[in-house]
Amino acid sequence: MTPQLIDPFARAITYLRVSVTDRCDFRCVYCMSENMTFLPKKELLTLEELDRLCSAFVGLGVEKLRITGGEPLVRRDILTFFHAMSRHLHTGALKELTLTTNGSQLARFATDLYAAGVRRINVSLDTLDEAKFARVTRWGRLGQVLRGIEAARAAGLRVKINAVALRGFNEDELFDLTAWCAREDMDLTWIEVMPMGDLGNEDRIGQYWPVSDIRTQLARRYTVTDLAHRTGGPARYVRLEETGQQVGFITPLTHNFCESCNRVRLTCTGELYMCLGQEDMADLRAPLRAHPGTDAPLIKAIHAAIGLKPKGHDFDYSRQRADGQVSRHMSHTGG
Ligand code: SAM
Ligand code: SF4
Repeated sequence: MTPQLIDPFARAITYLRVSVTDRCDFRCVYCMSENMTFLPKKELLTLEELDRLCSAFVGLGVEKLRITGGEPLVRRDILTFFHAMSRHLHTGALKELTLTTNGSQLARFATDLYAAGVRRINVSLDTLDEAKFARVTRWGRLGQVLRGIEAARAAGLRVKINAVALRGFNEDELFDLTAWCAREDMDLTWIEVMPMGDLGNEDRIGQYWPVSDIRTQLARRYTVTDLAHRTGGPARYVRLEETGQQVGFITPLTHNFCESCNRVRLTCTGELYMCLGQEDMADLRAPLRAHPGTDAPLIKAIHAAIGLKPKGHDFDYSRQRADGQVSRHMSHTGG
């Protein structure tokens, strides 16, 4: 299908990330405060509304849908939504249906996710140490997540591990995590921590550890080859020649990926964020709810929103204050 969503900088928007809930069974220190107040239910898009919205985007040329949250697998009846989306895989309009999860519910859902057409998933995991895992997630249990990953792989899902790079927290596990992923044949991506929410005021775990430093450390033990392929997002990849594994680095704080940005983000309340680092958003819930019988006003609103996609974001750690800091939590925009 020809992409129909072209932004003012000639970028085709083919990738939609959708947060299906703001709730989560963990309270990761860099993502949420311990006593989060969640949205009232009526604010959330229903599964039917999510279906209408995502289907409208697919109709406009979106080929990749990533379901996230909050924790997507704690949303009631979420499998119904995955199964509904799989119809777009069957028509060929959608090339990939995937999700980002903390892994806690995978043991229950892995087989059904595979049946709905999901083939690859991202699991967020920052440490292999039980006590540290409990500290960084506050409510999480490492064993449950590891069992979830096992179940996912047994179901045929390819797993990529995403770890947030936290100075003084998982620095010492760089080689353990790398070796574990190599052994289990899982790709690994390191994410630089972003200045979201109330990061910095809490627990002192959310310390910035630049991924350039991770690359340097890896190069001391492995032969590191840069890979050319990009995904239109903020990730760069290398191959560790000795193990053959792929390691990714996500540097959301640099501008070096904005020119190839192919994505927008939809929150669980129907706000469309055109850029992760900007506050600008468009409300798609209003046209959706005001016109239950027709998608024309919704499609018009989507086009108008894409027309406002900014060239790049404003994060910048190098300035005195956290310029470009956005106040919303990752669980709201879905990361
Ligand atoms: N609950 C799911 C999970 O944890 O994978 C999906 C939602 S979570 C918000 C998506 C990703 O955002 C996770 O990989 C998480 O580690 C990452 N994340 C959350 N807060 C972050 C922050 N302040 N900086 C960088 N990454 C963050
Ligand atoms: Fe939940 Fe994911 Fe945020 Fe952790 S990062 S609190 S698992 S939404």
